[in-house]
Formats: sequence, structure tokens, C-alpha cells
Amino acid sequence: MIEFSDGITLLQGDIIRETSDAIVNAANSSLLGGMGVDGAIHRAGGPKVLAECKAVRESRYPDGLPTGEAVATSAGNLSSKWIIHTVGPIWRGGASGEEALLKSCYTSALDTASQLGAKSISFPAISTGVYGYPKERAAIAAFSAVKEWLSAHSVELSVRFVLYSASDMDTWSAVYKALYG
Ligand code: ADP
Repeated sequence: MIEFSDGITLLQGDIIRETSDAIVNAANSSLLGGMGVDGAIHRAGGPKVLAECKAVRESRYPDGLPTGEAVATSAGNLSSKWIIHTVGPIWRGGASGEEALLKSCYTSALDTASQLGAKSISFPAISTGVYGYPKERAAIAAFSAVKEWLSAHSVELSVRFVLYSASDMDTWSAVYKALYG
């Protein structure tokens, strides 16, 4: 685990073990579960999370949650208070607005967390699994979005990036150190 002075922590682990107030789900627009983080969070969160996601679909997003936006549910059987579901962009080569959309996932999730009064939030590496976003580029976009958001908002919110593999942990920490020393 590496803790930086700006309130950002990087660690290797499984996001379902996080005890932050909010954990972020790399969802798909259906909000009904999927592969990777999404599957793990729904399995661990249980039927209450799925029922709330279905209710969100019916009441607010009948066509699905748009890419780059975020919505919160309770965390069911998980230790957190909330799950913040966001839909990352599918990587299509980089010229389809992927970077702005990925940054928007992070800032929308942070907006949602602060509206809820969360003091801590844990993110997975959104879009870097099934959605194919190159890992270094994803780390650059994630860090810049989070750091810009933190410096524009005077709230106490600790931000944890939970990297699933040792090699992802290496990549993300190398990117952080290269950009911010
Ligand atoms: P996306 O569809 O947004 O690409 P994925 O869930 O496929 O989302 O992958 C996003 C990242 O999350 C990948 O780097 C993947 O290795 C990682 N990941 C998968 N399961 C977990 C988990 N349980 N905890 C933390 N990270 C995970």
C-alpha cells in the first residue's frame, strides 16, 4: 500500500473487501450486473443491490445509465455504506472521447460521494478490464480527474485506488510517481 500526502492511496486488493464509505462499481449501462468488478460487487452485495439498481433503471434511467455518469445505491451485504455505479467508456482507439468520459466517471462518482457525505471512497481501475482501456492511460486520466476534483472541492475525502493485480499496482504507482513525484 502507498499513501500519498494528497489523500490518495494505492493498494493491491479485492474491492469487495474495502471498508470505505463508498465503493465504486465499474458497471455497464444496464446496471444489472456483469463481469469483473461488477459481478464481484453484485455477488457480494446481494439481492438488495440488484433490486435497487432495477428501481433506479425504472425510475430514472429506463434506457440505461449513460457512460461517464454515476448513481448510488446502498451496499447490501458489503461493509460500505454505498455503492456508486458508473459506466466507463469502451476503448475504441482513443479518438471517441474516451479520456473525457473516463475522467467523468471519476468526477461524477466523487460528486455523488460528497453529496452523500462519504468521507472515503474506493475506486477500481474503471474500463481497464473487459472495456479494454490501456492501463497507463487509464491511470493518467484517473489521477488527473481525482486531483483536479480534490483541489476544486474543500471536502475531506480520502480516495483509494484498488488495483487487482501486482502488475496493475506497479503500473499505477509508476504513473503516479512519474506525474506527481
Ligand atoms: P470494465 O468493464 O470497466 O473494463 P472490469 O470489471 O472488466 O471493468 O475491469 C476493471 C478493472 O477491475 C480491471 O483492471 C480488473 O482487473 C479489475 N478487477 C476485476 N475484479 C476486481 C475486484 N474484485 N476488485 C478490484 N479490481 C477488480
